[in-house]
Amino acid sequence: MGIQRPSPGRGFQARTPAGMPERLARVVQMLGRLPGVGEKTALRYALFLVTGDETASRDLGRELAELRDFVRPCERCGNIAEAGPGVATICSICSDSRRDPALLCIVARVQDLLAIERSGAMRGRYFVLGKLLSPLEGVGADELPIDALKARVKATEYPVREVLVATPPSVDGEATALLIARELGALGVNVTRIASGVPHGGDLEFADQVTLGRAIEGRKSFG
Ligand SMILES: [Zn+2]
Repeated sequence: MGIQRPSPGRGFQARTPAGMPERLARVVQMLGRLPGVGEKTALRYALFLVTGDETASRDLGRELAELRDFVRPCERCGNIAEAGPGVATICSICSDSRRDPALLCIVARVQDLLAIERSGAMRGRYFVLGKLLSPLEGVGADELPIDALKARVKATEYPVREVLVATPPSVDGEATALLIARELGALGVNVTRIASGVPHGGDLEFADQVTLGRAIEGRKSFG
């Protein structure tokens, strides 16, 4: 077209629209890095933050600036917890004495933990892996927190008798479950797996509460 665009600077793609302030373009680019947010949605969000309700925008900015100081992963299970300076970050589930300390549920992600909590079927505590074994994506066993999991199971303060593996019923989820069953089997704990009912390849997050509750109640020991 022969139209010269101004230099976008800071490594911006040429598709940054001409006439957009560079500060706004930076925000668009940052929002575009969020999961599930494409370029158009990022632009829509950024423009709303500039032209929509000013108090809402400033409140959001303040919350985001402080979020990482006051919300951090639980040091015991990996769930999201309230944090503060100089104190151990322990989530509300780990610090709830009414929870069964003998039952530990292993999930891939915090979203799965929250989905299981919504089902109301899990009265024990959790351990969040953060990732699944994935030969296709090059995630090997050494990248999973197996040592931390073993330490958590062996901790005499919280004797664990049953480990329920609630990784998703996908290829990666099943491979991870088998690895955990093998690694923990030698520790003398009963390793169980959620029953079928959650669709294969599906995310626990999207299973309905009844199905997820039944999958937990109908769990089986590894053969
Ligand atoms: Zn915790």
